[in-house]
Amino acid sequence: MKVLVPVKRVIDYNVKVRVKADQSGVDLANVKMSMNPFDEIAVEQAVRMKEAGTVTEVVAVTLGAEQSQETLRTALAMGADRAIHVVHDGELEPLAVAKMLAKLVEEESPDMVILGKQAIDDDANQTGQILSGLLGWSQGTFVSKVEASDGGVKVTREVDAGLETVALKMPAILTVDLRLNEPRYASLPNIMKARKKEIAKKTPEELGVDTAPRLTIVKVEEPPKRQGGAKVGSVEELVSKLHNDVGVI
Ligand code: AMP
Repeated sequence: MKVLVPVKRVIDYNVKVRVKADQSGVDLANVKMSMNPFDEIAVEQAVRMKEAGTVTEVVAVTLGAEQSQETLRTALAMGADRAIHVVHDGELEPLAVAKMLAKLVEEESPDMVILGKQAIDDDANQTGQILSGLLGWSQGTFVSKVEASDGGVKVTREVDAGLETVALKMPAILTVDLRLNEPRYASLPNIMKARKKEIAKKTPEELGVDTAPRLTIVKVEEPPKRQGGAKVGSVEELVSKLHNDVGVI
């Protein structure tokens, strides 16, 4: 079984994001970038399936600017076998990403695509679902457990009411959630080995996909500053504050 894992380069989750003065977006200048954390979990899942013998090849894919190659090198150092970089400068909306992934699926014929449940920069949570719609493949979203089952795959999904287990027919799209696994750190020897692994370059034009944005960002604002907390001396004072100051009881 062959698995495709799309990985996105995003602002590192530890960085305090700053909004640009003209409110057109967030400041990316001199900001640490890393692999989207959910995509690390997706790579880890694919590599574990390879180690368990159920997967024969793991192909990492990214769509983005030249520097996104670093993200592919991380995926290769974690254990992906080879990588594809669709080079594109500027915004890419989930629809365009999913259309390009669909083209790569046509070319590569994987049995499964494992994505993050969402990219932490735009929080869209759309790409896997759109890809599943475009391909007509089964989808298991918000996955926290994956098991092989007769000719398919059984996944546990994190839903509002608890955990839901569904059996998917192959080929399938999975989007992975936080509790699925703890991704490994790439070891130095593997980082060195990853430098020699193949990264194929492509362009959106070669894939025949129009990447023009369909949405206009009107404005980006910082969330309102949080009010500081306060300590209360007694239950009576707490009740009085909740009643008189906050108005919730
Ligand atoms: P989103 O729908 O933008 O929240 O992204 C969900 C998932 O789609 C991510 O976790 C990635 O696995 C994949 N993805 C989104 N954008 C890209 C991109 N530019 N390159 C590679 N993978 C992407």
